[in-house]
Amino acid sequence: MARHSRMADKFPSRKDDLGRLCAFCGKRLVGRQRRWCSGECEGNAWEQCSPAFAAERCEARAKGVCHDCGIDTKELDHALRNLRCYHDFLWSELKRDVLHDILSIMRRRGWNCWKSWDALGQAHHIVKHSDGGELHPSNLVWLCVPCHKKRHGRKE
Ligand SMILES: [Zn+2]
Ligand SMILES: [Zn+2]
Repeated sequence: MARHSRMADKFPSRKDDLGRLCAFCGKRLVGRQRRWCSGECEGNAWEQCSPAFAAERCEARAKGVCHDCGIDTKELDHALRNLRCYHDFLWSELKRDVLHDILSIMRRRGWNCWKSWDALGQAHHIVKHSDGGELHPSNLVWLCVPCHKKRHGRKE
């Protein structure tokens, strides 16, 4: 069984007596439009069918900021990537120490099993799929890894 419904099941082609309608918003299609009235409708439909795309949009909407603690996962990712560049190409004891300090602070703050270059944030389903939660923007929040773990820890 597919984890999320397929595009064709969730947004079947629509038409009335006069012709085709947008499968997402129902607007009448014109010219060479076949299924969607706009790229926006196609994107919105795709967001409700592809978990990967939904997560990407969730992150973009939140601007990478964790809903629960407010940490900016994008900024953190940026900072760590810069450090890694130095680590790889411009190795110096100083920068290695800085990286080490940051990693140990992160561990203390709950980034326990986090390995250096894993994703720093994740899209969280507010209502789990197994409890009937839909893949829909209203059912997703962007969380940093420790906050995501906390959410799941509390539920169990
Ligand atoms: Zn439309
Ligand atoms: Zn957080």
